[in-house]
Amino acid sequence: MSNTKSILALPGDGIGPEVMTPAIELAHAAAAMDGVTLTVSEGLVGGCAIDAEGTPLPAATLAAAKAADAVLLGAVGGPRWEALPMSERPEKGLLGLRQGLELFSNLRPALLAPALAEASSLKAELVAGLDILIVRELTGGIYFGEPRGVTTENNERKGFNTYVYHDWEIERIARSAFELAQKRSGRLCSVDKANVLEVTQLWRDVVNEIAGDYPDVELSHMYVDNAAMQLVRTPKQFDVIVTGNMFGDILSDVAAMLTGSLGMLPSASLAADGRGMYEPVHGSAPDIAGKELANPLAMFLSVAMMFRYSLGMPEAAVRIEAAVSATLAAGHRTADLHGVTADNQETTSSMAAAVMGHLTNGAR
Ligand code: NAD
Repeated sequence: MSNTKSILALPGDGIGPEVMTPAIELAHAAAAMDGVTLTVSEGLVGGCAIDAEGTPLPAATLAAAKAADAVLLGAVGGPRWEALPMSERPEKGLLGLRQGLELFSNLRPALLAPALAEASSLKAELVAGLDILIVRELTGGIYFGEPRGVTTENNERKGFNTYVYHDWEIERIARSAFELAQKRSGRLCSVDKANVLEVTQLWRDVVNEIAGDYPDVELSHMYVDNAAMQLVRTPKQFDVIVTGNMFGDILSDVAAMLTGSLGMLPSASLAADGRGMYEPVHGSAPDIAGKELANPLAMFLSVAMMFRYSLGMPEAAVRIEAAVSATLAAGHRTADLHGVTADNQETTSSMAAAVMGHLTNGAR
């Protein structure tokens, strides 16, 4: 294993820079334990890039992202840029990175730290130990299909989108989900609407066609309406879920809520060659930016995913995840977390210090 890895850090806007700074420190410390040096460069994306360069995704940022082993992103957006036309907003920078890097596979784990079981919108016994991985196709489906638009004919307005998948798009996301299931408990549920939509009948057919290549994975299929219901009824029945762009968008938010806090949820977006972009699920949280109130744990867990999926350093990932769990188990809480009291409320910095303490010394 090369002992140098290159990371592009894109802090972005709002609380993005606040959670990125300690995340980089944690990443350096975790990598050093494996004798690996991280070279971290920084770039502009989102609102800060609009202010500095007049575009949410400067060409230099995309080029640096393509050259790096992995990209870490904080968050983009905020009220300051909301008056801009849709095509010029900070979020366009994010979409441009996903497209430019061909990040077709979006992984969103919904993992409930035992110490936070009471924070879920479901009863603690239904979610204690919850560990689901949703694999969402990110660059195709109805969000990108053509034709699309709104037309007016005979005084009637008509809005339309196209739900389209090619077999190769289905096959590559399904293969990545089968491989992830092999590394977990070996169960994969493919979610579609094959009883109504032809495109998702093709989805089901392609998933079945390649299932024979993964005899150690137990494959099941579920219609999306049933999956939504099952996720809030008995979520622990799932291990890995694979689905298309729109269904994945919706189901991953449902699964996220089961874990109780937006400030805890990491994500990874991967390309075919294993390179990826890692970011917390939350946004730039302008309401708390600059107040030392941001929970940095989603960003830290995104760093753990980066070590696991792009840098080939699963031990470093486990070390960070264990440090986060130990920090929560020891009672440390930022304001957004269940169980926060005047006595245990941490700032962004003190929470980060607690995690760093658990990582480097085993305790604080
Ligand atoms: P948000 O996720 O920024 O905030 C929603 C709520 O959760 C807020 O009350 C916020 O204070 C809280 N919150 C979020 N992250 C937190 C954390 N780490 N610690 C503690 N509390 C946290 O969503 P929003 O308010 O709908 O959007 C704000 C801006 O972020 C918008 O401009 C939006 O477009 C953008 N956004 C960006 C991304 C991204 O960069 N990936 C994702 C979602 C929203």
